[in-house]
Amino acid sequence: MPSIVVIGGGAAGLMAAVAATEGGANVVLLERGEKLGKKIYITGKGRCNVTNLCAAEDFRKNVVRNPRFLYSALDKLSPDALVQLLAQWGCPTVVERGNRVFPASQKASDVTRAFERRLQRLGVRVSLNTRVSAIDTAQSKVCGVTLENGQSLPADAVILCTGGMSYPATGSTGDGYALLAKLGHTVVTPKAALAPLISEEPWVRALQGLSLKNVTLTLMHGKKTLYSELGEMLFTHFGISGPLALSASSYLAGLEPRECKLLLDLKPGLTESQLDARIQRDIGAAGKKRVQSILRGLYPERLADVMAQLCEIDPAREANALRREERALLVQTTKALPVPVSDAERIAAAVVTAGGADVRQFHPASMESKLVSGLYAAGEVLDVDALTGGFNLHIAFATGYCAGTAAAQPKDATP
Ligand SMILES: Cc1cc2nc3c(=O)[nH]c(=O)nc-3n(C[C@H](O)[C@H](O)[C@H](O)COP(=O)(O)OP(=O)(O)OC[C@H]3O[C@@H](n4cnc5c(N)ncnc54)[C@H](O)[C@@H]3O)c2cc1C
Repeated sequence: MPSIVVIGGGAAGLMAAVAATEGGANVVLLERGEKLGKKIYITGKGRCNVTNLCAAEDFRKNVVRNPRFLYSALDKLSPDALVQLLAQWGCPTVVERGNRVFPASQKASDVTRAFERRLQRLGVRVSLNTRVSAIDTAQSKVCGVTLENGQSLPADAVILCTGGMSYPATGSTGDGYALLAKLGHTVVTPKAALAPLISEEPWVRALQGLSLKNVTLTLMHGKKTLYSELGEMLFTHFGISGPLALSASSYLAGLEPRECKLLLDLKPGLTESQLDARIQRDIGAAGKKRVQSILRGLYPERLADVMAQLCEIDPAREANALRREERALLVQTTKALPVPVSDAERIAAAVVTAGGADVRQFHPASMESKLVSGLYAAGEVLDVDALTGGFNLHIAFATGYCAGTAAAQPKDATP
């Protein structure tokens, strides 16, 4: 019976510990915090969007970095299979808008409780307040771990599930990166993903509190469109946030923001010529009204004032005195308003961490290191991240499952 140490009691570590024990291994789960699943507790605003029941291809489309690395893991533990496991372990789920799955109780803590019951039933040893400071190897093979207090724990295999660097109060402080680097692994520089974007632009900050629905945000890198989506966004005191901004930040991670362009289409339902025709109609109907009233018919009040400023049109002028070029500029700016951003928020405030363990150094079918035999990694510590919708947690569960199952197998049976 192989002895396995799982480092980290988050989504990936909980699943890895269960899968490895069910596979016949003798498992000990080490968690540095005082309880398991601290991050799970705050997911989905306390409701935990545990997975997403979309088709496999759509799932991978929501994975921003290294979707191909996940083929095998998603095959071994599909969203459907996860939902079934949770139900078996006493946590039934419900499906909401966009195939998002939540515990039927709407309580994130029930997901962790289901795992805790399962671990207890399987007799897994859980050691809380136990921080790993090194993974020990001999001849490029794992032989155990060293704890912060200097104690050594022998093991045939180690599954590293230490997460990223987001929300460090949950215990994810990036320990895994240092542990991996010490063993010769490459760590792709961690960056904030699913994070609000910072803008120094006065007009952006002046709009703080304004939220826009049914707008399209597009992120360009040179001529390439990296992201374009219709949805909601919000202006804040430091820049922009809301679903569209968070998703755009994931595509921006790892790039130089100054080389990218963020464009906001305020009227995605209209083409430029349709919008021009609409403005002309409005002007025709406005009689002697001012430009300001035309603009306030097109945009929310504060945005209308900003648009006048950006297009250098005096809002107090009579609308029918608007020149053709001015109208053209208004149309152009409405369809592609550049929103200058200088960076994303710091990683600590990001929902997930982009970057991490270079996946080229791990076998996708087992999550085992190609450099150190008996070392496995799963979850956010890997350089894999996705958009919102339950994808990140599912990635943690699926890679944890894949690693746990593989690590428990006798060595010559591992693919
Ligand atoms: C506010 C917020 C909301 C989110 N909502 C959702 C959502 O609804 N749906 C979704 O899919 N995703 C969501 N996510 C993302 C998702 O929570 C993470 O991607 C996922 O939890 C990662 O799981 P993990 O097990 O890899 O890492 P983590 O959950 O970060 O777990 C790592 C664990 O390892 C422990 N650890 C670290 N270092 C050591 C060490 N040296 N020794 C021992 N233990 C150690 C940590 O204490 C921690 O418990 C959200 C994230 C945040 C921050």
